[in-house]
Amino acid sequence: MNSKLLSLVFVSALLISCNPRKGTVNSGEVNVGVSTTEVKDPAMQPVYNASETRTNDLLHTRLEVSFDWTNRQLNGEATLSLMPYARPIDSLILDAKAMDIHEVKIVSGENNMKDLKYKYDGWALRIGLDQQYKRGQEYKVYIKYTANPENVEQQGSAAISEAKGLYFINHDGSNPKKHMEIWTQGETESSSTWFPTIDSPNEKTTQEIYMTVQDKYTTLSNGLLVESTVPKNGIRTDHWVMDKPHAPYLFMMAVGEFEVIKDEWVRKDGSKMEVNYYVEKKYAPYAKEIFGKTPKMIGYFSELLGVEYPWQKYSQIVVRDYVSGAMENTTATIHGDFLYKTSRELIDENNESIIAHELFHHWFGDLVTCESWSNLPLNESFANYSQFLWDEFEHGRMEADMNAYSEMDGYFLSAQQGGHVDMIRFDYASREEMFDGHSYNKGGRILHMLRTYLGDDIFFDALKNYLTENAFTSTEIHELRMQFEKASGEDLNWFFNQWFLASGHPVVTIKQSYDATAKELTLSIDQKQKLEEWPLYQLPVDVDIYINGKVRRERVWIVNEMNEFTFKIDQAPDLVNVDATKTTLWKKTDNKEIGQWVYQLNNAPLWLDKKEAFDKLEKSNDPDAMDAIMKSLNHDFYDIRLLAISSMDACLKNRPEEVKKAMVSLLGKEAHPAVKAKIIDFLAKNYTDLSMLSPIFEKGLADESLQVIAASLKGYAKHNGEGGLAKAKSYENSESAKVQLAVADIYANYGTPAEKDFFKSNYNEMSGFNKFTFLSHYFKYLTNQPDELTAEGIPVFCEVIESDGLWYERLAGYQLLNGLQGHFEKRANQIDNELASLEKEGNLSDDKKMELEKLKQFCLSRKTEICGKMEVYKSKEKDANILQYMPR
Ligand SMILES: [Zn+2]
Repeated sequence: MNSKLLSLVFVSALLISCNPRKGTVNSGEVNVGVSTTEVKDPAMQPVYNASETRTNDLLHTRLEVSFDWTNRQLNGEATLSLMPYARPIDSLILDAKAMDIHEVKIVSGENNMKDLKYKYDGWALRIGLDQQYKRGQEYKVYIKYTANPENVEQQGSAAISEAKGLYFINHDGSNPKKHMEIWTQGETESSSTWFPTIDSPNEKTTQEIYMTVQDKYTTLSNGLLVESTVPKNGIRTDHWVMDKPHAPYLFMMAVGEFEVIKDEWVRKDGSKMEVNYYVEKKYAPYAKEIFGKTPKMIGYFSELLGVEYPWQKYSQIVVRDYVSGAMENTTATIHGDFLYKTSRELIDENNESIIAHELFHHWFGDLVTCESWSNLPLNESFANYSQFLWDEFEHGRMEADMNAYSEMDGYFLSAQQGGHVDMIRFDYASREEMFDGHSYNKGGRILHMLRTYLGDDIFFDALKNYLTENAFTSTEIHELRMQFEKASGEDLNWFFNQWFLASGHPVVTIKQSYDATAKELTLSIDQKQKLEEWPLYQLPVDVDIYINGKVRRERVWIVNEMNEFTFKIDQAPDLVNVDATKTTLWKKTDNKEIGQWVYQLNNAPLWLDKKEAFDKLEKSNDPDAMDAIMKSLNHDFYDIRLLAISSMDACLKNRPEEVKKAMVSLLGKEAHPAVKAKIIDFLAKNYTDLSMLSPIFEKGLADESLQVIAASLKGYAKHNGEGGLAKAKSYENSESAKVQLAVADIYANYGTPAEKDFFKSNYNEMSGFNKFTFLSHYFKYLTNQPDELTAEGIPVFCEVIESDGLWYERLAGYQLLNGLQGHFEKRANQIDNELASLEKEGNLSDDKKMELEKLKQFCLSRKTEICGKMEVYKSKEKDANILQYMPR
């Protein structure tokens, strides 16, 4: 699963309460282990979440399903082949959530079925078998059922927002603008909402699904489409077969009017494998631009891992209103609709990282699966790290390091907000908690440290053995460690214990001194983390010592709280670069002279070398520092140019004309859209010279890149008053959401009451992240307008809250409505102050007093109105994702 939502959740401000409320909010969570025979008191839940005990082994799952769009139900017949796992059994417990169970039978021959006794509590189906079965003795159970996904009540997570399992989108066709679709989302344990199964990651089964649909619909499922019946009365049945075992949470179906764009990957032996992209008709022309690197990725990962892509095909589909970022259903990955991009939009950004992430899961997650959610990093850390691997291969180390840094930042932010936890943890309250900045972001960084320490040969050898020896089974963290130990010949408990089985990260202070008489460099590195809670780390770290343009690399082991290392060198170093490979996950304070930072910016090769130096130098008035930053404007890698532009504080203050000249000159030759947009922003923000700015804005508005257009439009609006608003108006109906967001941003800052309709008529056209941003601009616009106009936002935000939109769109509604409440309170205070000061000055006429009093009353009434609405909404709110932001 992809964590795209995580970053958004982290930036969301907490909801403010009308009145501080006491008591807790019921999260609506249901967490029942199905193999228990009694429902446990939640207060008595064990603190150790063990792997599911395997009593029955599910061998094959055969499903026949049809769909009732009107009632959002699935009618199904399941035939499950099973075998006792270890001990003889005479009963079978299946996960089956919110179903109507019609028949349960034992199948003992072609036409020989006998009714079985069963108990069903809406959550688990307990079946008494017709006899005792012994290990090795296969039996088949037939179940006829109706799935009611709308009746499922369980909690989603930050990475996945709901847990219905089966979703009908625009099911009654009432929204002519929205695609009608059916799709599924199994992780973590939601597949059991649409078929009875053993819904646990340590179970693996082959599968076949007969999907009966109206002939106008395309279907997609795991494995291969082996047969499609000739349509009868407009109805067709597709038969999908997945003949390799995988976990139930990876089962997938999708139905809708999708176009199938065909691609292929050529295996090493020359055979071809189908690679397909399922998209809405509108995006069919762009599908190969969106997904086209997929075959190359399959080839690269197969080569790198030494294990060829192990499945029959690879399909990717984009669906509407998706509840997560993306999901690695075996051979049939689902993506959210943020992947839909036109060629024009693809100039500015792509989704290669997400495509790589889901594909890599086909080895880590689908082929070898974490045996329990406690071991989720065995899936997600690898998928996260694949983003680095792909970047490194396709775009180079700079790009890889740059993206890795934001992943690391994501971990720090997530841990700051959600607390530090062990990577592998058995004591979670809800398994959905595992989908956090630890399992993904921190895990990816840990794997990178391990690779750096062991070297590529050992690292990838170990992975190859891990995948080969555990193929089609599930594992726990120690099985991974043992493969690394086998490949390296080293005991690696020290590494796994501190990184995977403990919380936190090193916090270090670095100091250096050079003794010219003794010709000795002393480097001290102290571990400052709170050792009661976090480990004292063992850190193998490379140190680069630069002298006279030459680099000497030294490996040091930081193992104590205080560590001192000495090096004999002939003269004071130009630079001591600790962690020269820039792979260690830590927080560090590196005390270096400014000259060393300048040297680092000019000479150290890696992205993070430069990023660290920029951070240190951006406010420095040192001429060498300013020279180094100015020089970086011409660096080959675009993000170094972006960082240089962001680090112009001191240069701008001391050398405004030189900076202007350099920026204009850079813009003239710049090819990268993000850098162009950034320069335009920079010039618009820091200069007022219209003879320089106007031609830049004009040229920018004609650019191919939408972000360059957006930057130019914002710049133009900033410097052209009413003319700027008029220009923005001409872009109100742009095809591009990015440009419309720029218009919204302009109106938010400079808008007048005349622009109010733009917001009202467009917010419902936006979805997902764009809607979130658009509504935030609307909020800012409203708070810059007269009070009566501001109040027009109330019904809009209420509508967003009441809509059936995605949870974070609705969360935006809550936050902004809350914000309006605060705004009206502030306005009432301002008016009070104005009344008082006018009175004091003796300038308060009766008319003025009445007018202001009335306005104040208006503001206070709006505040009360919002408070009332919020209380009602809060009492009714069921979405656990939103509830976590409610004040407790
Ligand atoms: Zn994932």
